[in-house]
Amino acid sequence: MTTKEQIEALREDLRRHNYKYYVLDTPTISDFDFDTKLKQLQELETKHPEFHDPNSPTLRVGGEVTKHFKTVSHTSRMYSLDNSYSKDDLLDWEKRIKKAVDGNIQYTCELKYDGASISLTYQDGVLKQAVTRGDGFKGDDVTANIKTIKSVPLQLKGDYPQLFDIRGEIILPFKGFHKMNEMRIALGEEPYRNPRNTASGSLKLQDSSEVAKRPLECLLYSIKGDRLGIASQFDNLEKARQWGFKVPNIAKLVNSIDEVLDFVNYWDVHRHDLPYETDGVVIKVNDLQQQEELGYTAKAPRWAMAYKFKAERVFTVLNTITYQVGRTGAITPVANLQAINLAGTVVKRASLHNADQIKKLDIRVGDTVFVEKGGEIIPKIVAVDLTKRPLTAMPTEYISECPECKTQLIRKEGEAQHYCLNASGCKPQIIGRIQHFISRKAMDIDGLGGETVALLVNEGLIQNYADLYELNKTQLMPLERMAEKSAENLINGIENSKNIPFERVLFALGIRYVGETVAKKLAKHYKFIDAIATASLNDLVNVDEIGIKIAESVAEFFSNAANVSLIENLKKHNIQLEISAEKRANQTNKLKGKTIVISGVFNTVSRNELKKIIEDNGGKISSAISSKTNFLVAGDNMGPSKRDKALKLNVLVISEMEFLDKLK
Ligand code: AMP
Ligand code: ZN
Repeated sequence: MTTKEQIEALREDLRRHNYKYYVLDTPTISDFDFDTKLKQLQELETKHPEFHDPNSPTLRVGGEVTKHFKTVSHTSRMYSLDNSYSKDDLLDWEKRIKKAVDGNIQYTCELKYDGASISLTYQDGVLKQAVTRGDGFKGDDVTANIKTIKSVPLQLKGDYPQLFDIRGEIILPFKGFHKMNEMRIALGEEPYRNPRNTASGSLKLQDSSEVAKRPLECLLYSIKGDRLGIASQFDNLEKARQWGFKVPNIAKLVNSIDEVLDFVNYWDVHRHDLPYETDGVVIKVNDLQQQEELGYTAKAPRWAMAYKFKAERVFTVLNTITYQVGRTGAITPVANLQAINLAGTVVKRASLHNADQIKKLDIRVGDTVFVEKGGEIIPKIVAVDLTKRPLTAMPTEYISECPECKTQLIRKEGEAQHYCLNASGCKPQIIGRIQHFISRKAMDIDGLGGETVALLVNEGLIQNYADLYELNKTQLMPLERMAEKSAENLINGIENSKNIPFERVLFALGIRYVGETVAKKLAKHYKFIDAIATASLNDLVNVDEIGIKIAESVAEFFSNAANVSLIENLKKHNIQLEISAEKRANQTNKLKGKTIVISGVFNTVSRNELKKIIEDNGGKISSAISSKTNFLVAGDNMGPSKRDKALKLNVLVISEMEFLDKLK
């Protein structure tokens, strides 16, 4: 055997044992033998650097140090999941699904692993890149750290596709977590709070050899790529397993919501026997074509649902109630609690939502309260233990003045929240609006964070978001902790935001009820800010999906002289206040007023492209056929029940080609 062959044989051998040990949990050699082989390989590799391989099993010990994690875009977005808490929630979900897709529906039930999500890219069977979820669009490149996790295959086996992404969760099983904590305690260090935070913190360690020491695992659940030839989620899992990934065998294919509930109930009890933490079950429509038909909301797939196990509850004492002012002037009462450990984190505060909530629970300072952590990050108070109420506890009187600017608070008919209407003079509102303006989904101003905004306002350098565009370096330099470089970055970030498209600028303005989706609709419909500003209520409500509440809010915003002059200032600084010429060129009104359903698989354009074409030409897409449907664009393999329904309701059915031809 040549040295090269010897090295390759050892690598292959170690890979196999690594797989058996870490993926299958069934080692066939002793740790000692494994270490001996590993040492042998290490020695050979040191002597023969010419045979270096970035995926050699010896490199699992890490060593690469990353100072700054590179931000990279995900090839397809990493979504969140909608949550459900009851059988009714699931039945409602099923109803929505059945409206939108044809045929039988099967579900894959999986556990929801509680860790940090990760997206792995494999090319030619080799791990190329590992990226954190980040904001779902972009994440951090943590490849060097992920390579040290032994259950992540560096080299795949079997008939894997040439290029694909696979997604999963990095978790820290209890055993390893406790071991880490024992060590920390022995060294006199603070123990870690919970496995999830420790796992996600590990991904961002700069020294990968530190990550290598942590007993992390990677459990996979979803494959993304083109033409993979996989038809269902269950097959997805099966394939991933064959290629060498760790995919728990727990997943189950079921035919009804009742069977889903059986799975949930079983694991609600047995989860305590699992070696890792799970906080629920994820239910997915099994058929990938049905998944595609269902698509996504702004945040989550419509074809998947998380079912959360019942939350943990603890009781503690309410010390004080304070009031926060949001960017819209809304007041939120906050309960300050005696610190308590709940589901692995220390809880000190909980939202009380509004005056009604306080009244309903008759919650008083000094009370012993039940705190629950459900799906949300912020815990909530669900009940008061009246038997423990101190005799001196006084009923809570809701504030009548703004805690920040002392303006009399207003509560409008039918609204739960109190408001401070002093929009232009109330500090937290001023700061909050600018923070919203610069946020990622709005103007995405690099180099400017929420705290700096507060500083700029408090120093009197800016009063509103248009003022940002007047800032210069000389003004910034004297500020605390502002180095020349960061001042430059900030100015550059502000300058670059002039390229942000109109729809996002519209969202950034912070008009109440105008979220991302509404901003998109308005931008597309009106094309110029002035057209929106001068639109009548009547005109506004005629825009698809714009209701009276939104229309009133938009009209109110533009009837305010201060806002009008803000917009004028933004115009002066060349912020995009109309849709770009390029975008306009692709848009027509050819399909205006038409409601269109699409179904099946398309050949010349993808489903998403088709949707975009329809929307760009003013059409409206609906997921279900009704008497309002103008026509149905049918691709291949369209479900028979959709066709029947179209026939019954006399809805015109046209093919993809006919549709595209007509549009031309
Ligand atoms: P959430 O962050 O609560 O919206 O839940 C979505 C996250 O659940 C995803 O980003 C995944 O990281 C995680 N997750 C855990 N297990 C699964 C699973 N089996 N399928 C899909 N997502 C999962
Ligand atoms: Zn105020």
